[in-house]
Amino acid sequence: MGGEEKAKKEALEIIGQFQKLPCLVVFDLDYTLWPFYCECCDEDETPYLYQHAKAILLALKEKGIDIAIASRSPTPQIAKTFLDKLGIRPMFVAEEIFSSWTHKTEHFQRIHRRTGVPFSSMLFFDDEDRNIEAVSKMGVTSINVGNGVNLRALRQGLSEFLQKSEPSSGSRSE
Ligand SMILES: [Mg+2]
Repeated sequence: MGGEEKAKKEALEIIGQFQKLPCLVVFDLDYTLWPFYCECCDEDETPYLYQHAKAILLALKEKGIDIAIASRSPTPQIAKTFLDKLGIRPMFVAEEIFSSWTHKTEHFQRIHRRTGVPFSSMLFFDDEDRNIEAVSKMGVTSINVGNGVNLRALRQGLSEFLQKSEPSSGSRSE
């Protein structure tokens, strides 16, 4: 079994452990799906993803969970070219790539308008605290991936999503 197939199998197992799942998982690009700022690259270059990123995207799709992109890259054309080169662009139901002073709140408003998914049913992965802070205030479960999305971050994200969506036991009186 190849490395990607093995990682996908593991990702499917992780997703299978959770009873309640998000409807939509949103990913940042730079330092979340790929280990570079695409604004510092040339469109002619050959992009590559973090080791487990593709497997995670494939596993989510296979489980019927939609995926989307929220990126503040100032070079959307390079980002889109790279997504095309990687062959993953058609996988995303929404693709919001534009620079903005707001820390992705505008990106999420647009993703919500496009998909109709409520913020409480979304899970978001990003490597920057300011984006995580702003978007989690909107009601989206938001996870800082540190150095790229991986299986551990996936498990953590799904676990926090489940905790947030379940009424805590013992406080059901209200
Ligand atoms: Mg980033």
